[in-house]
Amino acid sequence: MSRIAITNVAVFDGGGEAPFKGEVLIEDARIAEVARSPRQVEREGARVIDGQGRFLMPGMTEAHTHFSWNDQPSLSAIQFMPPEEHILWCVRVAKRYLEMGWTSAIGAAAAKPRLDVVLRNAIDAGECPGPRYLAGSQEITTIGALGDNTLPHMPFEALSFGSVCSGPEEIRRSARTFIKYGVDHLKINLSGEYIAGLPAEMSPFAEDEIAMLASEARRYGKRVAAHARSSESVKQCVRHGIEIIYHASFADEEALDMLEANKDRHFVAPGIGWLVRTAFNASDYGITPAIAEKMGYKRELEIASESLRKMHKRGIRILPGGDYGFAWMPHGTNATDLQYFVDYIGMTPTEALVAATRLGGQIMLRPDEIGMLRPGYLADIVMVDGNPLDDLSLLADPERISLVMKDGKICKDAGPRGADAAPRAAGQGSREAVAAH
Ligand SMILES: [Zn+2]
Repeated sequence: MSRIAITNVAVFDGGGEAPFKGEVLIEDARIAEVARSPRQVEREGARVIDGQGRFLMPGMTEAHTHFSWNDQPSLSAIQFMPPEEHILWCVRVAKRYLEMGWTSAIGAAAAKPRLDVVLRNAIDAGECPGPRYLAGSQEITTIGALGDNTLPHMPFEALSFGSVCSGPEEIRRSARTFIKYGVDHLKINLSGEYIAGLPAEMSPFAEDEIAMLASEARRYGKRVAAHARSSESVKQCVRHGIEIIYHASFADEEALDMLEANKDRHFVAPGIGWLVRTAFNASDYGITPAIAEKMGYKRELEIASESLRKMHKRGIRILPGGDYGFAWMPHGTNATDLQYFVDYIGMTPTEALVAATRLGGQIMLRPDEIGMLRPGYLADIVMVDGNPLDDLSLLADPERISLVMKDGKICKDAGPRGADAAPRAAGQGSREAVAAH
């Protein structure tokens, strides 16, 4: 049996209480013991890692991941990458996520039919490092909607990153095809998207089409995730039991009431980083704030911020992650969502961290095994040099992610703090924070 004791750390266990000074014992894949100082864990036969006062937290879950988005400035660039390069790209990106502390992730759609499934299988088989992953389908879309990139004179299906369907029977065929490939859930685009030249408030699918997708998913025991910016699309999600709702920017009072009444069933992953960075940080790629405003993103961010604040107050589960993989929001910087949650949604830093950890275990369908540092949980663990509750941006800095463990196996280890390295301000902050509790 492998035993690892991590000592001298500030433990944030994902439950939402203040971090405490303590120790954690890992046996094989699971957490065996958590001790609050001055108590110690059993060290017999264990490798001891001295945390040197650093911050220990559960691994994070990215709730809306597109490994196959390729850090380019446009949607069409995604699909121009040939399949062979594309799967290698996904392999590299998955490793990047894991090393940034994202030990779990929900696939929010793959650009080509089997990318997510093949990657998930390779990660599960230990062939390449990556977060534990639930694989998505391509985006099921309809003619002229988000993900249909065909042109009238070039009607080639392969141009599209979506699976373009019209009518319930085509949706049934698409759903069954992705289920045959082995997806964990199906993705549907129930609203538009400004960067695709489509109003975010459009809701292109008819009721019978969505009902077909929902019933096929149920038949095979699969969940559905939806791109749903418009208010109507959020209501469609609730009506049809679509559990994973992406964006939800324009949810009106009726949609909020419906969500609140079903809050134990639905998760909202707004992908807030996409709105913030496209509105303000994409000038280098031709989208100046003025252009973003004209496109509609500034208004959407303002409205989304209001609806998400209301959702948070109503106790609707909001999770981080979403649509990283564009030039102005490259893969690996996903944790900037957490500061956006504070700034735009009104969460406390602790709530943002709980959203990334404990709620992550819930959306991964393993609430008793993932997302907390408690005995019996899988040992998915991140050690941070500094206190993220004082400064959430630490979680987006690779140099501050000192150690990552998944299933009790160390995936990244930056080693002890250098003896001659200058003490880090936030690191000291974490010791003071611990002392204060
Ligand atoms: Zn997305």
